[in-house]
Amino acid sequence: MFKQGRLPGFEDFDAGACVALREPDADIVLTYLGTAGFILKSAERTIVLDPYLTRTTLWQTLTRPLVPDAQLIRQIIPHADDVLVGHAHYDHVLDAPDLCLQTGARLIGSSAVMNVARAAGVPERQLRPTSGHERIACGSVSVVGLPARHGKAILGRIPFPGDIEVPPPWPARVHQLRHGQVLNWWLDAGGFRVVHIDSADFSNEELRGLHADVVCLCAVGRQHRPNYVRDVVELLKPRYILPCHWDSMMTPLHANPQLIPGVDLHGMLHEIRALGVTPLLTPIMGQQHFRRIPQPNPESLS
Ligand SMILES: [Zn+2]
Repeated sequence: MFKQGRLPGFEDFDAGACVALREPDADIVLTYLGTAGFILKSAERTIVLDPYLTRTTLWQTLTRPLVPDAQLIRQIIPHADDVLVGHAHYDHVLDAPDLCLQTGARLIGSSAVMNVARAAGVPERQLRPTSGHERIACGSVSVVGLPARHGKAILGRIPFPGDIEVPPPWPARVHQLRHGQVLNWWLDAGGFRVVHIDSADFSNEELRGLHADVVCLCAVGRQHRPNYVRDVVELLKPRYILPCHWDSMMTPLHANPQLIPGVDLHGMLHEIRALGVTPLLTPIMGQQHFRRIPQPNPESLS
């Protein structure tokens, strides 16, 4: 697990490197929530990915059942239509059930994510399990889960491996939230496509043939997987890459964030630029504004 405070190679987050994009006639807003969390908002739909606002301290994470901060969730995300969760580790799944209970949003994710939601009391009618490879309509936005792998993110090992086959105790302890099936997401908002890679590894085969305007890319992966950024660029040919999962996720939402030790954000930005893509380093709660460009022949993905 991460240690807090200064460590060799540890830098504070450089807010000066951040970019705020506002394309002309922008009609899609992407808000970064910290960790791997985002809100994708168009005029007709609000889709939330991997919301994790509770951000327990290291001590709380290791010693106590993890209680979602319901008031903060209500304050920051008052409305949602769909909530996508890429895997069932606490920093991806913990706040999703409360968000669905508060907003009535539908929860989309693996069977492990569904069991966490059941533990928290989310009704079955709000649950939409998927193991990927199917197109799910979220209003006018199409969503497809892309089966992926969890990265060996801590000391060369996958933290809390395994599945969640029955609803765990709730509130759960960190070790009870095993990752289950890992899904990346491809979202097509009619001329604006996002691929969300929330873990430190992915499958090239699953990304082949897809395109993305924006890739939300887990920064931890660059330390653990060879050719992490280069493969994403070659496969998805994005215009923009928005680094995520670089913060320690153990500071309060509105506090100055800390980098995960070992994450080289400046190196990542440099590599993205060298590959001809525009990096969008975004502060927590920062927003990027994009314009949809409808494609004459939208790609088919079954
Ligand atoms: Zn994880």
